[in-house]
Amino acid sequence: MSRHDAAAGHADVILAGAGPVGLFLAAELRAGGADVLVLERLTEPTGESRASVLHARTMEIFADRGLLPKLGDLPAVGPGHFGGLRLDLAEADPDHPYAGQWECLQYHLETELERHALDLGARIRRGHTVTGLRQTADRVHVDVRGPGGRGHRLTAAYLVGCDGEDSTVRGLGGFEFAGREADRVMLRADVAGLDIDDRRLKRYPAGIATAYRRPDGTTRLMVHRHGEQPTGDVTFSQVAAAWSAVTGEDIGHGRALWLNRFGNASRQATEYRRGRVLLAGDAAHRQMPVGGQAVNLGLQDAADLGPKLARVVTGQAAPRLLDTYHAERHPAGAHTLANIRAQAHLLFGPDEVTALREVFGELLEFATVRRHLARTISGLDAAAPPPRPAPDTRPHSSHTHLPGRSTVDRLTDKTALVTGSSRGIGRATAIRLAREGALVAVHYAANDEAADDTVRLIEKEGGSAFKVRAELGVPGDVHELFLGLERGLKERIGETRLDILVNNAAVTSTGSAPEDLTPEEFDRYFAVNAKAPYFIVQRALEQMPAGGRIVNITTGVTRTSVPDQVAYAMTKGAVEQLTFQLARTLAPRGITINSVAPGITDNGGAVFDNPQAVEAMARFSAFNRVGEAGDVADVITFLTTDEARWITGAFVDATGGTLLG
Ligand code: NAP
Repeated sequence: MSRHDAAAGHADVILAGAGPVGLFLAAELRAGGADVLVLERLTEPTGESRASVLHARTMEIFADRGLLPKLGDLPAVGPGHFGGLRLDLAEADPDHPYAGQWECLQYHLETELERHALDLGARIRRGHTVTGLRQTADRVHVDVRGPGGRGHRLTAAYLVGCDGEDSTVRGLGGFEFAGREADRVMLRADVAGLDIDDRRLKRYPAGIATAYRRPDGTTRLMVHRHGEQPTGDVTFSQVAAAWSAVTGEDIGHGRALWLNRFGNASRQATEYRRGRVLLAGDAAHRQMPVGGQAVNLGLQDAADLGPKLARVVTGQAAPRLLDTYHAERHPAGAHTLANIRAQAHLLFGPDEVTALREVFGELLEFATVRRHLARTISGLDAAAPPPRPAPDTRPHSSHTHLPGRSTVDRLTDKTALVTGSSRGIGRATAIRLAREGALVAVHYAANDEAADDTVRLIEKEGGSAFKVRAELGVPGDVHELFLGLERGLKERIGETRLDILVNNAAVTSTGSAPEDLTPEEFDRYFAVNAKAPYFIVQRALEQMPAGGRIVNITTGVTRTSVPDQVAYAMTKGAVEQLTFQLARTLAPRGITINSVAPGITDNGGAVFDNPQAVEAMARFSAFNRVGEAGDVADVITFLTTDEARWITGAFVDATGGTLLG
């Protein structure tokens, strides 16, 4: 953007809201070369001492951006909780450099983020409120009321609402904010002059209370009284009355320095983008601010959106890249909100949740349960985008040994669809992905029993899988497949995120002379082997987050002349093009796509029971044997892991040296 544009009141991006999310997003946009103008309603930062806790994923992002030294030494605060039950977030990953939670007071975070954004060249105007917006084909017109009530109009290529849970931009932009309002409220106060015992979310018959004394001598109080839902402004006498009713202690002599309330509201914008207007942070999702998840979720939104939006406004990427922001951050938000709702239930529930809390307490005795929850809260779970690879900040794989499972769960929390996994290479792949920790959808066409067997084999090893039936190559095939897939995923993990797709199902060729092939046979090959994979990929990408993996199974026959399999080879050549052509488009989303070409592989078919035939087939391989399904499945599995993140668009020869000649 030129100086003239800036003077004329135009910016690449206008951000409403200079809280932590808006300021960090401004810095991210500037780092990507975008011109940014931040409008903030308040004339001064609030100066509130609200504690913000930073989690491992946010710390990782800040480390990547060189921000951690600017924030100084952040004290570790531990151990954390899940709905009031002790949970040590450091258990998310003992090898992670930032596992745990780190205290960073809000005013300090805002001050440093503002400095960082200004250093990078962001413009920040305080005392400016957005009052109207209108989108046209190439810009968004933003009405602003400045200091003294003067109105003026600005324009930008994009407007982002980072203006908090009561977002004006969300309202003006016509976003739907689905969910429910609070029906439980916790009062919060910083009080001077008290000398009471510290306690953490302590349960009393009449409610819950927290108190902790800060080094500066003030006491942070939180109190919830069962059945009470105070409205209007919070007063100290209200807090003192609730405290006395719940704990029996009198705090009326204290002096309130800061008062507020929070509740268990849970709402989320159904779209994070409407044309040229986007939402981030609390503007996109309202949740109970428990354990710092809200601010971390918002900062992670900014880390996802900033680089993408910068690329779009500087002409390096098409606007549709912005759709991936919704595709990635909306599920992450929904996942966090569900987690917080569960915690709110455990936390606020009166007597009737006691049994649930006891059962949860028992579950938390298991390290895998603690690790799972700690990873979710820390932003290290599958719903979060993978960190940018930086050797010093990348989380290491965990090394958990489960009976009957691999010693390294490289796909923990991932979901996978393997087409044609009732038998052969598909089955071997499904089993391996599940061993690595993935939840696997076992797809098949008709062979119900074989699909059941695959699921059984997986479950026997302690893995998770479900079957999905859909015949490919017929009208409505992909729709049917995804109906079953989404139902299965929703039932098990509450969302339809798909991390891994293996396009394996195919009509394989028994060989027929080129002159004998009928148009119907030709169409069938193409419908099942080329058209279906194409539209499966198209559909899967709607729900595939960053870190996603697509593996297309082709054949060594595309690289060697076998005239009797010409139509089959043509379909697989098409699939290789699908891989090659899409790789560049998908890389910015952090998704890889590769082709794996098996050679002759024992899929349990009758021919592999015939020793002479097997001997003849074995001669094609440099190893002088036919491939086992597992030989190929191991290669496919590797390509789905984080270790293969640097391979995309590749043709991977898994023929056992058949193509060496
Ligand atoms: P396979 O044993 O023949 O099993 C095929 C799988 O695909 C089964 O799960 C089958 O489901 C499913 N399937 C077949 N047609 C379908 C359709 N129209 N709709 C939905 N599902 C369908 O396969 P494989 O030999 O392991 O081969 C797997 C992949 O490797 C294929 O892409 C193949 O082209 C490739 N490949 C294999 C070899 C080899 O020697 N085996 C060599 C090179 C490449 P049902 O069980 O319900 O029928």
